[in-house]
Amino acid sequence: MPSISRRPSANSSHTPWAATTSKGGRSCISCICAQGWKNTSRLRRTRSLMPMHCGGHGPRQCRRLLPRNGDDCPGWGNPRWPRAHRPHTARPMPDHMTRYATSDHLAVAVVRATDTVATIAAQHDVQGEPRRILGEAITASLLMATRLKGPGVLSFSLRTSSCFAHLRVDAIGLGSVRAMVTDTVRAGLQAWNGVDALLGPGEVEVVKQLAQESQPYRSTIQLDRGEVVWAANRYLAVSEQVDACLLIDVRERDGALVEATGVYLQRLPGADDDGAGIAHLRRHQLALTEGRPMGLAGDQDDDGLIQRLIPGSPLQRLHDYPVGFHCPCSAERFITTLRGIPQHELRELAEDGVLETTCEFCRSVYRIPLDEVI
Ligand SMILES: [Zn+2]
Repeated sequence: MPSISRRPSANSSHTPWAATTSKGGRSCISCICAQGWKNTSRLRRTRSLMPMHCGGHGPRQCRRLLPRNGDDCPGWGNPRWPRAHRPHTARPMPDHMTRYATSDHLAVAVVRATDTVATIAAQHDVQGEPRRILGEAITASLLMATRLKGPGVLSFSLRTSSCFAHLRVDAIGLGSVRAMVTDTVRAGLQAWNGVDALLGPGEVEVVKQLAQESQPYRSTIQLDRGEVVWAANRYLAVSEQVDACLLIDVRERDGALVEATGVYLQRLPGADDDGAGIAHLRRHQLALTEGRPMGLAGDQDDDGLIQRLIPGSPLQRLHDYPVGFHCPCSAERFITTLRGIPQHELRELAEDGVLETTCEFCRSVYRIPLDEVI
């Protein structure tokens, strides 16, 4: 008798989310150190693998010792510490998200998602310009999900009449994300002539399902420009009606994805119209409208990036989260869905007593025995 099996998609072994949220709190969430503080005794002997931030301090001290400047961290500049401990000479930071508030009443979030975008793009066989567009949607969704009022899922969908006809990204909680590119759309992208616009006018839909609410909140707006960043900003202004700005920079170089960074700025109650923070927000909103937003590449450090975007606004770092791909699909979920299909149709769909189904998000293949369903 066949048994339930799951064949993960070719690239699903790289799951930063799973790696950084393993049981036992092994990862150093305070500093987004992917190596994990429990391994630091081994890592201390292996200098090339030394965690960039915590350097073996352990989780309690890690937040306090986060090396925002030379004074915060005892390892900074100390010749006894390996070079990898110094942020500017270390390997790039693992994907993460950081939330801030400024003293002039701005909410700020930064997301670094280069590896996550690369992982999801590889799952869907998307490269080049389509990958850049997918990366913008993933980064935008992660940032918009930071404004959810509680645990939940934010789904960001674009529907256009162009080659990239449908794109959906689910930001699950804070930092987990998956994307859906259907087989039809994928075939269209692979046949793209490299000249025509990939996105045209269309509509953007955002669905927010909060864990504590039974019904989702759904909003759809029309789009006059086929641009992901424009779509996200129009949604915030028209549907959410928040005074905000979403900046995204996704870059390709020599056929590889090298940057997927986003910043979210939102005015909070109490902000002064004449204050520096609001002046910076207006400047970035105007630049977006004129199609010349400030680039986000080049800053290794989140604090430095924010200070470049809104100079003069004192920052308070609130939370750090790991960011990574995650798809909650399972055989049990597919069995529940299949049980909604009439039995005679299931028998027609089955081959050798097995139903095969593929998750459109992560492209994992499930083989489910027919007698498990009917
Ligand atoms: Zn899946």
